[in-house]
Amino acid sequence: MDEISEFPALRPADEGYDAERTGFQLHGPHRPDLIVTAESPDHVRAAVAHARAHGLPVAVQATGHGVGVTADGGVLISTRRMTDVRIDPQARSAYIAAGATWGQVIEAAAPHGLAPLSGSAPSVGAIGYTLGGGLGALSRQYGYAADHVTALDVVTADGEPRHVTAESDPDLFWALRGGRDNFGIVTGMEIGLFPHPEIYGGTLAFAAEHVDAVLAGYLEWTRTLPDELMSAVSMMVHPDVPFVEEEFRGRYVLQVKLAYTGPADEGERLVAPLRALAPTLADDLRVLPFTDSHTVFKDPPFPHGYVGDGLLIDAALDVTTLQTVAKQAGPEAPTMTVLQLRHLGGAQARTPAVPNAVAGRDAGYLLSVVLPVDGVPAETVTEVLGGIRRTMAPLTTGRALNFVFGGLSGAELSEAYAPADLERLRSLKGSYDPENTFRLGQPLALTPGADAPARG
Ligand SMILES: Cc1cc2nc3c(=O)[nH]c(=O)nc-3n(C[C@H](O)[C@H](O)[C@H](O)COP(=O)(O)OP(=O)(O)OC[C@H]3O[C@@H](n4cnc5c(N)ncnc54)[C@H](O)[C@@H]3O)c2cc1C
Repeated sequence: MDEISEFPALRPADEGYDAERTGFQLHGPHRPDLIVTAESPDHVRAAVAHARAHGLPVAVQATGHGVGVTADGGVLISTRRMTDVRIDPQARSAYIAAGATWGQVIEAAAPHGLAPLSGSAPSVGAIGYTLGGGLGALSRQYGYAADHVTALDVVTADGEPRHVTAESDPDLFWALRGGRDNFGIVTGMEIGLFPHPEIYGGTLAFAAEHVDAVLAGYLEWTRTLPDELMSAVSMMVHPDVPFVEEEFRGRYVLQVKLAYTGPADEGERLVAPLRALAPTLADDLRVLPFTDSHTVFKDPPFPHGYVGDGLLIDAALDVTTLQTVAKQAGPEAPTMTVLQLRHLGGAQARTPAVPNAVAGRDAGYLLSVVLPVDGVPAETVTEVLGGIRRTMAPLTTGRALNFVFGGLSGAELSEAYAPADLERLRSLKGSYDPENTFRLGQPLALTPGADAPARG
């Protein structure tokens, strides 16, 4: 059989090509020569075998939230049709196919009173998120999503499907969880679920004049918390769009986002010091079903173009530095800048039972910076990001790959992994993908110090 007839595909001139390559991220989408619209693991296997036979690079896209180095030519495997989710309530586990979103997993798990280690946006792909680490509402209590993967079905560069577990192939299992798509295309994964049908949480919003005081109080407060409480503080000038609450439109507002898995009255007691910091513009803390956990974060649900970075920050972060960076990203910034400081620590800081390649366990906070870029000059984006990176440099301990939107250069990649882990990843890359078929996304197979073709 002609190998191309082994999978459904679209070429640039075909109707549907543009819709298929376009995902959530509208800034610089993939432009492959061939999109494999995979419906099954067999299609993925045949696509990888085809690419290898023709010496073509392979990229993979589920939702397009985390496009890194884009395919310019080559093969893009689109997994958006592979959305099966199977829950095993007794084992408290889920088997998730390559294209399923967290929203689909949350909805499938909820009738059993179970929740996954999902993140802030239900539209994010469960597998892309997990292979990059995965931080969400329950992560301080249980660790990264990658820490609770029990099996991965993956097609490696030789076109072979493998069922990979800690026992079957410890090296590959370690590398896949943190190494993203450098080692293969995951067709399905098995993860643990947790008994949290409800959480206590929501947001406290504060007006611009209280930002300095709230940041100072928030930082102190994070140093006193149990692992069951996750929080983040985010600041932005809100755009005037229907998605934003009417009273926030056009205003610079700070929001503290909270999720707590203990009893609501204990949650109330824990957040009392925050409520006492300043009068709130809004306060919707309540008991909510886990299916509404995304309302704590209120990420924009519509596709747009953005660039961003995820800086892992030392636990010794001081108030002056935090207030300085908030000003850089605030109303005076030359373009809209969304700054979010997530409190890390807890189980995220501990090595999981089966170690993986996810880095940054020693960081106290994650500072994520996102700039919508539609119509914004590239120099302005570079200036704002550069200024924030310089302010944070003395306290930056690494990079969180999931929060890097635009790809890292070779030199920057060495900040995304511990040195020994990066060496191990590169050595395993040489064994599992000697021809560097998987060289898009966030490629590992670079000479240290060399520049990756990062997108602007
Ligand atoms: C609005 C928004 C909110 C977010 N919130 C969070 C959050 O709370 N916590 C967090 O940790 N991250 C978060 N992220 C980051 C997100 O987890 C990453 O961008 C992730 O890579 C997205 O995966 P995806 O499949 O949705 O995106 P895609 O762009 O489709 O894929 C991104 C990358 O994931 C890898 N990948 C995807 N599918 C496969 C596969 N089958 N096999 C191998 N590799 C694969 C590839 O490297 C691919 O390039 C958020 C991103 C956005 C835009």
